[in-house]
Amino acid sequence: MNTIEQLEADYLVIGAGAVSMAFVDTMLTETDASFVMVDRHHMPGGHWNDAYPFVRLHQPSAFYGVASRDLGSNRIDETGSNNGFYELASGAEVSAYFEQVMRQRFLPSGRVSYFPMCTYTGDGQFHSLMSSAEYDVSIRRKTVDGTFFNTSVPSTHQRKFDVAEGVTCVAPNELPRRAANHKQFTILGGGKTGMDAAVWLLDNGANPDSICWVCPRDSWLINRETTQPGDAFFHQAVGGFAAQLEAMRVAASVDDLFERLEAADVMFRIDPSTNPTMFHYATISRGEIDQLRRINNVIRMTRVSHIGPDQLVMASGEVLPADPEILYIDCTATAVQFTENKTQPVFESDLITLQALRAPLVTFSAAITAYAEANFDNDAEKNRLCAPVALADNPTEWMASFVGNMINQNNWSQNPQMRKWISDCRLDPFGGLSREAIAADPARAKTMASITENAVPAVMNLQKLIAEAHATG
Ligand SMILES: Cc1cc2nc3c(=O)[nH]c(=O)nc-3n(C[C@H](O)[C@H](O)[C@H](O)COP(=O)(O)OP(=O)(O)OC[C@H]3O[C@@H](n4cnc5c(N)ncnc54)[C@H](O)[C@@H]3O)c2cc1C
Repeated sequence: MNTIEQLEADYLVIGAGAVSMAFVDTMLTETDASFVMVDRHHMPGGHWNDAYPFVRLHQPSAFYGVASRDLGSNRIDETGSNNGFYELASGAEVSAYFEQVMRQRFLPSGRVSYFPMCTYTGDGQFHSLMSSAEYDVSIRRKTVDGTFFNTSVPSTHQRKFDVAEGVTCVAPNELPRRAANHKQFTILGGGKTGMDAAVWLLDNGANPDSICWVCPRDSWLINRETTQPGDAFFHQAVGGFAAQLEAMRVAASVDDLFERLEAADVMFRIDPSTNPTMFHYATISRGEIDQLRRINNVIRMTRVSHIGPDQLVMASGEVLPADPEILYIDCTATAVQFTENKTQPVFESDLITLQALRAPLVTFSAAITAYAEANFDNDAEKNRLCAPVALADNPTEWMASFVGNMINQNNWSQNPQMRKWISDCRLDPFGGLSREAIAADPARAKTMASITENAVPAVMNLQKLIAEAHATG
């Protein structure tokens, strides 16, 4: 009979993805606690292990990852579609980073026991995916669930459409290897992965007319210029935030708000004649938008239900002719399971469920959760400071997540120690701003004053617009 190995730790952490890594990292700094980390993957970093080769962070590397270690070298790119902005780590860089954090910080601390290639089954128990080894953890303090977002990426997700034999339909992971053997391409999915696949094809010389894009929903997109950290980008980032609040204060409807945000260069849509119904925080540069606008063959408002050798059957019932030689690129994975992304209390007696506290910055949120766990005594206070913010699927939900972010930010700023910790934390994009530079520059001081003035009216108007949008369905 198989014996069960007994382990002991203060915290049992399920998952060693970005979110769990950010939580444990801050706990190591703030406490003396010990951790058992369990993950099905062979390396830390979660879904980044399964990423397509041309994936990059949406946001600058400067504020992604764990609090204790820089990701990348804080360089400004000088070429490509991110020219002029802070570097964006590739998937390989993100994976290597988390592996180094584990190998160079967590394991040498002597306080982290890491069990890759293992699956957690509940009640403190997990087993190896490679052998018959089974483990039972005696948990002194809490279980930490780092799997809430249930991230789904193309190489591992379950397709919701059929593909006939002989049709070539691949995850974007295979695109660089397969593309040269095809003259026509059909991209399935309107999210950031679909955009990445389209930009990859165009950047590598594909003729825009050789690309068909099945884009069931158009998306509002965040202008990456407004996400740049630090004083050098004050005008774009803090100024962009001030412009958002101004638009939110005066907007008369959801549509009016987004038109104002677009006019203020805070948001983009690829085709200005559409009314986007999707919002997944996809962040993009103007250069990528210009590339995507070169694709004219876009199938909108319907999904693919079946791909046959010479036809595409859409969920709407429409049947479109198709060339048997087309390379289909499946970009339909949802990343985060948005429809199931209801929130639950972060702190529930002996369970911590890591969620977004400032959407969409999930690693920053996990680090703050760790700070709260380490520095506050009771769950009521911890939950007040760590109110989960549901990640948005559509524009109205984004407005709700913005309100949640603002309320959390306000609560954090009331506590001087927490405010100081956050402003020193590399994961806060606004953290490194110099007070002296603001005080010395009347234009910057004016921007900050406008943020202070507009914050409350903007949140109140957003709440009104959200209620009106719900009332009208
Ligand atoms: C392509 C892409 C780009 C992104 N870019 C950004 C960005 O720029 N900025 C940003 O903030 N966010 C970004 N995101 C959002 C992203 O979801 C987070 O950054 C983050 O990587 C999610 O980490 P996670 O730990 O929540 O999930 P995961 O990476 O899914 O990790 C969870 C881990 O838990 C393990 N697990 C689950 N169940 C069990 C079990 N029962 N037993 C053992 N192990 C289990 C899984 O194997 C997995 O390794 C991006 C997402 C994608 C898909």
